[in-house]
Amino acid sequence: ENIVVSDLAQKMARKSRDVIRVLMKMGEMVNESQSIDQATAALVVEEMGHTAVFVSDNALEDSLMDSIVDHGDDAPRAPVVTIMGHVDHGKTSLLDAIRRAKVAAGEVGGITQHIGAYHVETPRGMVTFLDTPGHAAFTAMRSRGAKATDIVILVVAADDGVMPQTAEAIDHARAANVPLIVAINKMDKESADPDRVQNELSAKGVVPEDWGGDTQIVKLSAHSGDGIDNLLDAILLQAEVLELRASTKGAAQGVVIESRIDKGRGAVATLLVQKGTLKKGDLVLAGTMYGRARALTDENGKLVKAVGPSMPVEILGLPEAPGAGDEFLVVADERKAREVAEFRLARDRQVRMDMQQAMKLENVFANMGKKEAASVNIVLKADVRGSLEALTAALHDLGTDEVVVKIVSSGVGAIAESDVTLAESTGSVVLGFNVRADNGARAKCQNDGIDLRYYSIIYELLDDVKAAMSGLLSPER
Ligand code: GDP
Repeated sequence: ENIVVSDLAQKMARKSRDVIRVLMKMGEMVNESQSIDQATAALVVEEMGHTAVFVSDNALEDSLMDSIVDHGDDAPRAPVVTIMGHVDHGKTSLLDAIRRAKVAAGEVGGITQHIGAYHVETPRGMVTFLDTPGHAAFTAMRSRGAKATDIVILVVAADDGVMPQTAEAIDHARAANVPLIVAINKMDKESADPDRVQNELSAKGVVPEDWGGDTQIVKLSAHSGDGIDNLLDAILLQAEVLELRASTKGAAQGVVIESRIDKGRGAVATLLVQKGTLKKGDLVLAGTMYGRARALTDENGKLVKAVGPSMPVEILGLPEAPGAGDEFLVVADERKAREVAEFRLARDRQVRMDMQQAMKLENVFANMGKKEAASVNIVLKADVRGSLEALTAALHDLGTDEVVVKIVSSGVGAIAESDVTLAESTGSVVLGFNVRADNGARAKCQNDGIDLRYYSIIYELLDDVKAAMSGLLSPER
């Protein structure tokens, strides 16, 4: 299935030249009237922050997207920020300090609640913080294909420097293509040594602006509050560069930040609106469930009637707790919502069955005692389902009469030790597309001599596999 570039752009409500620019980055030179194949299109769609839905198998969802895509004129929106960093470097303290600073600035107090996100007003604009600190939430979102964060604040304690989770956070932000701002925290401490921190960051490729790099560094203290305003300024400056925009009109779309079941009130979900306006009474479709948003509550526990882009809001009315990172959208018609929810349930079941089937096939080969002389075995992990589907299809197509490509296992998310174990027992290479191996997996690869490779460009991955097939590339380095 091919699609014409201008049609693809129109489906995403984007300009053709934006699509062409993304294609160029991927090494494809095309004009807007040329067509590209499905795998490439899927990557473009992911790259531009949308979710790929294939017409052939997902005509239903496609029609749904068609009916809501028109959002009219767009308007500037606030940046959405996630705080990451090593344990005890002050992520929670910083989130609290920013919140306190805002209340002190004369905002109506209210009872602040933890709903997973909050926003602050500054003289130069609004900023929204996702207040589940740490990498787990960020990775969970990404693994579900959601792009909820515009800017990552990397907290580094001035008295401790770059630590393992600092480096991990840098990797996550890079992999997600999200700009970093560094907050050197605990500057009030006697032992603070910001120069050392900047040296260590530079060694990781995070070079301060003062040193000729492009990363904003803010020295601050979450305890005293010194430097918090500078951090907010840095965020707003970065946001200006990003030119963040979204429509305030039309049906709301966005992402589930967190959810839980409350004994009295049932499912409670925090949604981050990314486009359009979410109103009380709207029919919300989130992942495989839907329901009417009965009550909208902001982070101060106040009931609100409607919220626009970059705003978090807690809603009641879904039948169950949706997953963090699930995309949501408002649909006009209950029958459509049910159809799509049921369709997605069936699709998820199918994906699981396919996976089990693939494993069984693998067992058949093993039981037959066949040597995998003529196959390249792959354990494949990717950041989003769309990329995984595109890569799986493209890899299968590489197979020839002499050499087949066997995808022993594929999945969304970071490469874990269990993936490496599987690779070891099946003689596979481990390929990560826009994902990395966790520490345990990396160590196991090193110890056991398993080939582990990372990619962010589909063609590079395919080229390497092709090379491996023709024996040009030794399967282990
Ligand atoms: P997290 O694990 O990154 O969320 O770190 P926390 O916010 O829990 O902070 C870890 C410890 O560092 C706590 O004991 C804080 O009181 C302390 N801390 C955080 N920020 C500062 C700061 O600016 N100055 C000093 N002196 N201590 C801080």
